Amino acid sequence: MSLNHVRPWRNIYRRKSRQIMVGNVPVGGDAPITVQTMTNTVTTDIKGTIAQIQAAAEAGADIVRVSVPDEASSKALKEIVRESPVPIVADIHFHYRRGIEAAEAGAACLRINPGNIGSADRVREVIAAARDHNCSIRIGVNAGSLEKHLLEKYGEPCPEAMVESGLEHIRILQDNDFHEFKISVKASDVFLAAAAYQGIAEATDAPIHLGITEAGGLMTGTIKSAIGLGNLLWMGIGDTIRVSLSADPVEEVKVGYEILKSLGLRHRGVNIISCPSCARQGFDVIKTVEALEKRLEHIKTPMSLSIIGCVVNGPGEALMTDVGFTGGGAGSGMVYLAGKASHKMSNDAMVDHIVEQVEKKAAEIDAAEAAKAAE
Ligand code: SF4
Repeated sequence: MSLNHVRPWRNIYRRKSRQIMVGNVPVGGDAPITVQTMTNTVTTDIKGTIAQIQAAAEAGADIVRVSVPDEASSKALKEIVRESPVPIVADIHFHYRRGIEAAEAGAACLRINPGNIGSADRVREVIAAARDHNCSIRIGVNAGSLEKHLLEKYGEPCPEAMVESGLEHIRILQDNDFHEFKISVKASDVFLAAAAYQGIAEATDAPIHLGITEAGGLMTGTIKSAIGLGNLLWMGIGDTIRVSLSADPVEEVKVGYEILKSLGLRHRGVNIISCPSCARQGFDVIKTVEALEKRLEHIKTPMSLSIIGCVVNGPGEALMTDVGFTGGGAGSGMVYLAGKASHKMSNDAMVDHIVEQVEKKAAEIDAAEAAKAAE
């Protein structure tokens, strides 16, 4: 639960879910909402896949999913898992042997729909392999690939059909006494996805993996995801998220974090508050923010920075941020530290100076956190 009693209008009451483990990462319960992405390399390109996983992990991904379409990919998965800094989810469709191989290769979780992999014996074998290798399972219902009998029953993909599909898959796992599972009910349509997620959230206490599938490119996909996932997260639904973009996985991770940051559900790195700029600006706000975003990518400590073009809003925004800069006259502006006006700085030297101030503040926050943890 994310609660802020000082400002009750910011409270989000998180749905209570069971907690499962994806490798060493807890998902559900009171665990932080995790951010996932998926590689888009050919899995047998082991080097390329590992490089992409490392880049995603560096950007903050807690969990990364890798496709396992054939036996060669299962083999590659073993080495990928060994080198990965984060738990790996193996993405399996239809083929039960891939599921078993992926569990044996060390996948932390299988994304597999037990109702779609054939006979009860095959399902039992996959579940046994998952159990033997401490592997959890994600049931991944997708509006685009609903089972035929549900499409016939409901006529088209609809929230009820998606929830029913999810519950059918859940029942198979439960009948096999397997409970380490989470579930997603994705659709590319935000209304359909949101309704399906609300339905499944009521029908089960399993942790929920949120996603708007095939959301689009960086810009459109970000907006769709922010609306769809943002709305559900605001309602308290969702234990782990994946933003699906036709873009680099690192971008998916960044967008995922920004959505969580906007709702105060999780914090990582510098939250930059900046104005759109106008004729009043005392320095080039847009260029400066662009430069600072790049220069501050390495900061993982949650903190805030305000970059405001002039005194109309600058001092007010700076009040609520760790570091701030407000444009003034004659080629210089005011630097704010912990909400207070501290010193003047010339526009020319300002980017370097702000980077230094942010790094210093991040080190202070980290040291204070470490001291608190040692108490
Ligand atoms: S803070 Fe100042 S520079 Fe920025 S948009 Fe507002 S008036 Fe313009």
